[in-house]
Amino acid sequence: MRLFGTNGVRGVVNEDMTPELALRLGKAIGSYFNGNIVIATDTRTANEMLKNAVISGLIATGNNVFDAKIVPTPALQYYVKNTEVDAGVMITASHNPPQFDGIKVIDKDGTELARSKEEEIERIYFNKDFKIASWNEIGKVYDIDVTDFYIEGVLDLIKKEEIKKHGFKVVVDCGNGAACFTMPYLIGEIATVVSLNAHPDGNFPARQPEPTLDNIKDLIAAVKSMKADIGIAFDGDADRAIFVDEKGNFIHGDKSLALMAGYKVEKKGGVVVTPVSTSSCVEEYVKSKGGSVVYTKVGSPIVARKMIDIKATFGGEENGGLIFPEHQYCRDGGMASVAMLELMALKEKNLSELISEIPDYKMVKTKVECKEKEKVMEKLKKKVEGNADYTDGIKIFFENGWVLIRPSGTEPIIRIYSQSKDERIAREMAEKYKKMIKEIA
Ligand code: MG
Repeated sequence: MRLFGTNGVRGVVNEDMTPELALRLGKAIGSYFNGNIVIATDTRTANEMLKNAVISGLIATGNNVFDAKIVPTPALQYYVKNTEVDAGVMITASHNPPQFDGIKVIDKDGTELARSKEEEIERIYFNKDFKIASWNEIGKVYDIDVTDFYIEGVLDLIKKEEIKKHGFKVVVDCGNGAACFTMPYLIGEIATVVSLNAHPDGNFPARQPEPTLDNIKDLIAAVKSMKADIGIAFDGDADRAIFVDEKGNFIHGDKSLALMAGYKVEKKGGVVVTPVSTSSCVEEYVKSKGGSVVYTKVGSPIVARKMIDIKATFGGEENGGLIFPEHQYCRDGGMASVAMLELMALKEKNLSELISEIPDYKMVKTKVECKEKEKVMEKLKKKVEGNADYTDGIKIFFENGWVLIRPSGTEPIIRIYSQSKDERIAREMAEKYKKMIKEIA
């Protein structure tokens, strides 16, 4: 039986994510670590319910708990990595809609728990193999504040004075999420900040937690009307940052990833790690700056592990999740924000000018409903001719682009991503493989 998905344990509140589950999982996590554990949340309505149940389980198994309240996931990860605590627990459903919540476990080194360790916690959970403490060994609960520790840690890594000189005006859209108490203050240390949606509210009254073009129209309008230099929108737990340029253009995450990756390899050389689904604009730009790209399966913990293994210079995903190894091996929306300001300051260019250097590829995404995904994928593999890669699903290269075909991890769907500089070609290739998959199915 499996409990953890690719993003920890996640589901609909009081259907999947119940206090009973949280208590039992808290006991399992506590039995595994047996030490000092930091816990934090985003701003969702069920967080107090789930957090208190997890805390009960953790102290019942003899752990001391440090409650960091509402902070971004990367702030919790940074604290765990750089202090003597044994683990972290984050209550969040990241970019998911408001009715979702989740529980994520952070290892002692600040990374998301490796699958082998999750399996051990699952074993304890399902077998109820808990190490219940006796009455005089019940753990204690303390309040802590990790915000300043995180903000100082991020600011130590950038050229603050260079950035301040430019007097940037930044509109920050916290989306009523975990960014609220941290990101306006972090960015406010080096720029003038105007905050939108900066009060915590799990109903997400202003916008959905995912920073898509449709969801951040208010930010775009604010950047234009205030004549700001940049707009920044965070997802629900602020590990991802999406940017808007000074003209109010939404910048797709693949381009901000390419820009930052190119900037890093220009300075240090080396390798950039990203999933196979990422636009080729990243590889093309990184190569033009003297670096190279290594591809992984889809999923930020997989990217982070690969970066550690090969000592990569930089890494990230096209959804706005950027990983700075000099800081920590996880996505960090705060680090991404100040690094982007630093890039603008040192290059002395507007964000729109910087982005105009990134090659423009068109991506067409479609899907086929399919119950027997794995069987269809096997048959498709035999049909594929020419140059293909099997890192995650099947990625087929052709003269002017590629098509990636992947079974969904959670739904009865096969996804098709088709990319080319010519939108017509991308569309044709997506249709070609859609038809082929339908025929096989
Ligand atoms: Mg997130």
